[in-house]
Amino acid sequence: MKAEFDKELIKKYDRPGPRYTSYPPATEFTEEVGRREYVMKLTESNERKTPLSLYFHIPFCEQRCLYCGCNVIISHRRGIEEPYLERVKKEMSLVSRFINKDRKVVQLHWGGGTPNYLSPAQIKEFFNSIREHFDIDPSAEISIELDPRYLTDEQIEAIKEAGFNRVSLGVQDLNPKVQEAVGRIQPYELVKEKMEKLRSAGFDSINVDLIYGLPYQSAESFKETLEKIVELSPDRVATYSFAYIPQIKPHQQLLPKDALPSAEEKLRILETIINTFQSAGYVYIGMDHFAKPEDELAKAQQKGELWRNFQGYTTKKGVELLGFGATSIGMLYDSYFQNYKTLREYNTSLDKNEIPVFRGYIMTPDDLIRREVIMDIMCNLGVDFNKIEKTFNINFKEYFSRELEELAGMEKDGLIKILPGAIKILPPGRLLIRNVAMVFDAHLRKKKELRFSRTI
Ligand code: SF4
Repeated sequence: MKAEFDKELIKKYDRPGPRYTSYPPATEFTEEVGRREYVMKLTESNERKTPLSLYFHIPFCEQRCLYCGCNVIISHRRGIEEPYLERVKKEMSLVSRFINKDRKVVQLHWGGGTPNYLSPAQIKEFFNSIREHFDIDPSAEISIELDPRYLTDEQIEAIKEAGFNRVSLGVQDLNPKVQEAVGRIQPYELVKEKMEKLRSAGFDSINVDLIYGLPYQSAESFKETLEKIVELSPDRVATYSFAYIPQIKPHQQLLPKDALPSAEEKLRILETIINTFQSAGYVYIGMDHFAKPEDELAKAQQKGELWRNFQGYTTKKGVELLGFGATSIGMLYDSYFQNYKTLREYNTSLDKNEIPVFRGYIMTPDDLIRREVIMDIMCNLGVDFNKIEKTFNINFKEYFSRELEELAGMEKDGLIKILPGAIKILPPGRLLIRNVAMVFDAHLRKKKELRFSRTI
């Protein structure tokens, strides 16, 4: 299904809301759920015998990009990564003792920060220590985020040799003026050279990340970036809307505020992104991804098997995610756990031989039902009532009578179609799936009601 771009509808419905990389979102996590509950849930998870997905956070970067919204540690001083890696290994040994050895890892991801901050020797050595703690399935998806500016031939070789089969390159925008304004200079020629090297190294899939809403971007300028990206022919593209939050990320104050595109221009850019990738034959995935039709993501969306996690869209529904490293988040069937965000707290916890989890969330039966519905909307563009009824033993129309009533307005506007046994997202609703999902978010509703009663 192709997306239809209806500016008036987008304006009408556009409002801030969760991105639903989890439900409930991380804002609901609480420090009342910590390492004791994590151990209990890890142990419980063995009974389900589910395969595992592992996430490793490498928080270091050489230089700060002014748009960055991540928790990163900027350092040119080499050597800080070594003690960190030692602590992550310790975390693996503390956590893996609660995991049955017969559980296979089917997905593994290194994110950051900049994972290629590590030297080739560190990459290989750290990967080997993961293998010492976990059994990685030979067909596992093993991916790494890379910064093309610092990527060396030796690192590419080490990444391949370690076992990675997918890579993701941070490109953001190829326009020199935009790059200068955001403090991230990486000419097109450099990106092209690294892409070619990665291709000839034989990685199964190359993803490119782009950001729209940066200073000096316009629909026309970004179109040039998009055309160059299409020429480079990545297997997947992820596009993110830039969030300007200088009050939370003070370094964003250094961005030229007056050069930020207006809301209207941002919409034009988004329209250009969608039209360019769709015309180039890419399938529009979920909310913000594009993939070649033969890519696993496109196939999973078509089969209704796509899922969403903290790293974006994934084909691995039903796996349990263990997060390692500062700030990382894990998800067991009905619970989420997050590690300390600062290096100091993360280190202190591990130095006391404690699992560095500082907060989490244990889902209620209602959360589990709503998560399934929200993920189906966000990933598979519709909800099959029968599937939800069978999985959770409920009557969909009775359980969600209030939500179905609320959706009538969206149906009238042509965003969705409510059928006797399903909700289907229609092409004009394609860009507003988050708004449809928000109707089923009980936590958001509670907050709205609280705010409302306070106003009264
Ligand atoms: S490389 Fe990525 S994580 Fe590091 S500062 Fe730039 S945007 Fe942030």
